[in-house]
Amino acid sequence: MPTRLVILGGGPAGNQAATNAARLGADVTVVERDVVGGAAHLWDCIPSKAMIATGAALTFVERSEGMGLLTLDADVDVDGLKRRITAIEDRLRTAIEDLLADQGVRVVRGTGRLTGPHSVVVDTPDGTEQLEADAVLVATGSRPRIPDWASPDGDRILTTRQAYPPPVMPEHLVVIGSGVTGVEFVHMFASFGAKVTLVVSRQQVLPKKDPEVAAALEEEFLRRGVKLLIGARAVGIDREGDKVSVRCDDGRVARGSHALLAIGSVPNSDGLGLDAAGVEVDEWGYVPVNQHCQSNVAHIYAGGDVSGKLPLSSVAAMQGRKIAEHVVGLQAREHRHVDYDKAPQAVFTEPEIAEVGVAEAEAFATGRKIRVTKVPFSSNPKALINDDARGFVKIVSDPATGTVLGGSIVGRHAAELISVLALAVNCNLRVVDVVDSLLVHPSLGESLTEAAE
Ligand SMILES: Cc1cc2nc3c(=O)[nH]c(=O)nc-3n(C[C@H](O)[C@H](O)[C@H](O)COP(=O)(O)OP(=O)(O)OC[C@H]3O[C@@H](n4cnc5c(N)ncnc54)[C@H](O)[C@@H]3O)c2cc1C
Repeated sequence: MPTRLVILGGGPAGNQAATNAARLGADVTVVERDVVGGAAHLWDCIPSKAMIATGAALTFVERSEGMGLLTLDADVDVDGLKRRITAIEDRLRTAIEDLLADQGVRVVRGTGRLTGPHSVVVDTPDGTEQLEADAVLVATGSRPRIPDWASPDGDRILTTRQAYPPPVMPEHLVVIGSGVTGVEFVHMFASFGAKVTLVVSRQQVLPKKDPEVAAALEEEFLRRGVKLLIGARAVGIDREGDKVSVRCDDGRVARGSHALLAIGSVPNSDGLGLDAAGVEVDEWGYVPVNQHCQSNVAHIYAGGDVSGKLPLSSVAAMQGRKIAEHVVGLQAREHRHVDYDKAPQAVFTEPEIAEVGVAEAEAFATGRKIRVTKVPFSSNPKALINDDARGFVKIVSDPATGTVLGGSIVGRHAAELISVLALAVNCNLRVVDVVDSLLVHPSLGESLTEAAE
């Protein structure tokens, strides 16, 4: 009898596990309360990047003179923007639904919870359905963290999920939180022409990133007129009519027309019956997992944001694929675990930022011996053709072996270009392998070989 796998949540972790496990012969059921594709498609990655792409089109128009064009003009069509986001989501959702159907995966619409180690109950629109499982995957994702000092109203005080786009385009947006999500929203709304103030609780934006990379973004924000409140921790938001005031712990107040909370997320692990199944959660509600994404109960897996690893769609999807292999017993063969330290990450701002592997600052802090080479895009022909020579490529390698350990790219298409370095890092390639690779001319990628030389 095939292994019965029941998956709670149809986001990247859930749907990738489902299609792969079904392909490998498992009998798979996905329980989804909303849409397959998950929050990733509905709220997070896709709508945010769709809005950023529209903002980029506007910025391009503003920079038309640099491309040898007469001045162009453009404005945001909010309804058109909403239609565009919905159309992309619909298309992606349909593609996943078709894929699941092609693989014979059953999708049950409703909210699921464990009632024991091998049983799941689903509250569906028509009643309840009981499912028995040999293996269960908890892939229920996460939701925006709302602190007790804020009450989002979906109108002027927003979570990230209420900003695609908000009912009224902000005249002056105060963004609270300067991690990846926060700075992407700053960039997005600044490119739509809004005034933006960013409340930065630490001493630099993107506190977990290489300081040189963060500095490049801060410089660009300041050039665009974004006001940075460095070292200010928000402690309250007041609304008066169509104005908001964000109070900070040092007495400063940021005033605007809208406030947006971008201060992280919390796992969707409550109400899942994890107790009933004997599954442990940590103090924040994440389900701790081993290298196979198994919880403390061996046949109950957790993948994606709820597993408390890197909260990225790409990581969730990779975990899903690995879980599928493990569920059907393929780990007995040659099997590569997910190496979270080698996951590339991008920040979709202008300039775009992407990083993979060991960062220069991190190696410096730990005293690890590294070789760092860096070239600016200002010497790259394609960057000049694009009229955008901002940024640089930095490669970190092992001075003894020449192995590529990591890299940072700041500049146009950084998120695409990092794929080359991600491959090098994941496959233990050496800088000489990058140097010896023939690339297209003219291309931004040529800066990678130049940096590797
Ligand atoms: C604003 C923003 C932008 C982002 N942009 C990017 C990006 O550009 N690139 C990137 O890699 N990552 C990005 N992320 C992170 C990414 O969205 C998450 O890491 C990813 O969605 C995690 O996937 P997942 O499968 O864990 O869960 P999700 O995508 O959250 O899916 C979980 C699913 O489980 C369902 N569910 C929950 N509970 C139940 C239940 N009891 N029963 C049935 N169904 C249930 C939910 O309805 C949901 O569909 C972004 C995050 C945010 C907040």
